[in-house]
Parts: sequence; C-alpha cells; structure tokens
Amino acid sequence: MRIIVLLGPPGSGKGTLASDLVNCSGRPVFVTGEVLRATIAQGTELGRKIKTDVESGRLVDDSVILALTKEFIDKHPQGVILDGFPRTLPQAQGLREILRHSSTNADIKVIYLDASEKNVVTRLKARRVCVNCGAIFNLNSHPPKQDGICDTCGSLLEVRKDDTEDVIKERLNIYLEQTSPLIDYFADELIKINANLSSDEVFAQVKDQLCQE
Ligand code: AMP
Repeated sequence: MRIIVLLGPPGSGKGTLASDLVNCSGRPVFVTGEVLRATIAQGTELGRKIKTDVESGRLVDDSVILALTKEFIDKHPQGVILDGFPRTLPQAQGLREILRHSSTNADIKVIYLDASEKNVVTRLKARRVCVNCGAIFNLNSHPPKQDGICDTCGSLLEVRKDDTEDVIKERLNIYLEQTSPLIDYFADELIKINANLSSDEVFAQVKDQLCQE
C-alpha cells in the first residue's frame, strides 16, 4: 500500500496537485478540510462541534481527525492520497500507528510543497469556491469564464469563510507552529518540491515518481 501525503502551507497547491495525482495514479484522495466542511454543512452533532474551529482557522481535535482518516485508509487498501493530513505530530504518529496495524505493507511518500508566504497569501485571497459543486477557481491563475459563476455547474462562487485576511494569518501561524515540524519528522520519506511555480510545473516535478506504479 502506498500512502502519498501532501504537506505544505495553506495555499501551496495541495488540492490542485491532489487532483492531478488522482487522475494519473487512480488512487483516491482524502481531503480532510473538505470532509470537515461537508460535516459542518450537514449540521450533525460533530459538525456543530467543529464549526468554530474550522471557520476560525484553528485545528480540529487530533482524535476526530485520526478516526476519520483511519476509516478512509481502511476502506482503500490499494493506497490513498492524503491532502491536509497529518497536520500535527500526534497525527503523524497516529498515521504510522494506523499503517502498522493494517493488513498490507505500507510505504509513505511525503510531498512537501515549498511555497513562499507571499505567494500563498496572494493565492488564498484570490481563491473562489463554488457553493454547489465545490470547484475551485483563482481570480489570477484560473479565473471563471463568467465573473462569480462556476464554469462547471453555473452556481455562485464564494470566498471561503477562512480565506479572510485575519484567518489566513492565523492559519499560517498554526502551520508554522504545528505542521512545519513534520518536515523533519518525515525527513526519510520527504520529496521537497518548488511550489512557487505553476500547477503544471509542480506536477511535472513529481509525476515520474508517483504516477508510474
Ligand atoms: P484546509 O481546507 O486543508 O485548508 O482545511 C480547512 C480547515 O479544516 C483547517 O483550517 C482546520 O480548521 C481544519 N482541518 C483540516 N485538516 C485538518 C487536520 N489534519 N487537523 C486538524 N484540523 C484540520
């Protein structure tokens, strides 16, 4: 089982690279943030519990995240792509624990998307998301054909609640404090790529290693 972890600050392009990797490798992707936003939209008890954390840019409890991720990995023994997990040291240790107990041998490849703070802030401010199908646009690099309207389903585009200036700052601080230590933690499994480039150039840096198995 191959586990591909996408590690990098918010706005570094994990979501775009994840879709390219799904297309070329056929492995399913687990997008932690998307699962959490869908849980909030469903208005379940868990959704109500995590709403404030997600909308203010704070991290959700490790135990909640680990349970959701374990469920996904257990369902896909052929391997998965993880976008947005792990984000803390206990989550990274929990991932190793999950894999130790899985029935097939697992190897982890961690793709570290190294992008400058200036670039990620610019990208996050320009991000627009479809309220209906979740398609992601960027006013600079991938604008919708019609202003404010989704190319895919014709619904309205919105700014994500956590893409406001204050929350972006909070998310970057949390990334530096809690997530960036994982770069050292995964030193033996790490492939560092330059994520300041276009999405095609980012994909080109990893596709030979990750698409042909
Ligand atoms: P993202 O869409 O990856 O930027 O995630 C949006 C928000 O979901 C984050 O700011 C956190 O509040 C929450 N979140 C996503 N992934 C995790 C995780 N692995 N651990 C804790 N919280 C998470």
